[in-house]
Amino acid sequence: MAEEISPDLGFIKDIIAWGGDSLKKCFQCATCAVICPLSTDTKPFPRKEMIWAQWGLMDKLVGNPDIWLCHQCNDCSLHCPRGAKPGDVLASVRRYSFMNYAFPRFMGRLLSDIRNLPYLLALPMIIFIILLASIGHLNIPEGEIVFSRFFPIFYIDVVFITVSLLALLSAGIGISNFWKGMERNSNPWMPGTGMGLIPSIISTVTQVLGHNKFKDCGVNKDRYRAHLLVFYGFVGLFITTNIILVLVDFLHIETPLPFIHPAKILGNVSGIAVLVGITLVLLNRLKNKDITIATSYDWVFIWMIYALVISGILTEVTRLAGIPFLAYPIYLIHLVVVFYIIGYLPYSKLAHLLYRSVAMVYSRYSGREGIII
Ligand code: SF4
Ligand code: SF4
Repeated sequence: MAEEISPDLGFIKDIIAWGGDSLKKCFQCATCAVICPLSTDTKPFPRKEMIWAQWGLMDKLVGNPDIWLCHQCNDCSLHCPRGAKPGDVLASVRRYSFMNYAFPRFMGRLLSDIRNLPYLLALPMIIFIILLASIGHLNIPEGEIVFSRFFPIFYIDVVFITVSLLALLSAGIGISNFWKGMERNSNPWMPGTGMGLIPSIISTVTQVLGHNKFKDCGVNKDRYRAHLLVFYGFVGLFITTNIILVLVDFLHIETPLPFIHPAKILGNVSGIAVLVGITLVLLNRLKNKDITIATSYDWVFIWMIYALVISGILTEVTRLAGIPFLAYPIYLIHLVVVFYIIGYLPYSKLAHLLYRSVAMVYSRYSGREGIII
């Protein structure tokens, strides 16, 4: 019996609105699937994804691991004879996919609309102001600049540990929904018929650490270096934050740490790596603007990373320069941006790393051949 097709018109509308507006131009020539450096002869993409998207087969697409195996190099878009930009269509489908699996789902929707940005930033600012007002710290402290005298470490810990745990929980539920979605949609590639789960995880982690797939890109080769810098920059910042947590909370070491303290050096080097990496991402997007579309969603992500690094650098510079009326407010802004990056991670572009990694694990674990290298 023929499979009944029920198009999801809302899905098509969102895909088009989120940068996939060239979708209808595709006439199924399959050039993209041949050109794609990550597609294989036996499990090709993105031609089938293009037709599924045209037909509005939302369920088939959002739980399809192949949409995450694409690394958006846009070799396919460069060679598509119809200008259908399959690279951008897949990016749009990925965005829909993790919005669909996000928990709570309304947060995914909130983050996907740039008009909500002021409210998303206002939330942490209001929390911080209420907190500071309630402990009588809503003023610029006298004397040497020490941020913990303005925002006590105890309250920083309470806010950010809570936010991190909530983000972890949301991401965990989203990923679990995604895994179930892949199980429903990936027949015959079912879990347990490929590599073991642990070897699948090890193989994926090795690949992510080396960013090997980015090396296969043609047009967008520069993305390899850019992504690598941003990735390891964030890893360095994550390690630094945890070292400082241990130093301050458990070893009761006073802050600020001296400039030559290893944790300080790691933090500064990591911040510079993120800054250089995101600048390369920006330059790369500008260079390839004819091949790929940068949506407002992409731009918000880039500007928020800039806001994170620049507010961090200015916090340190104004402290060292001894300008309290600038240092404390900039520090507060920096905390708002950190809250945005951590708290909204399960719904932002940073969630790509999670979803792509899980799709890669699933592909290995389910016996979907051709991507195991
Ligand atoms: S997206 Fe372009 S290259 Fe791919 S099948 Fe459609 S028309 Fe052909
Ligand atoms: S953007 Fe690159 S990786 Fe993705 S489908 Fe196109 S060619 Fe393949």
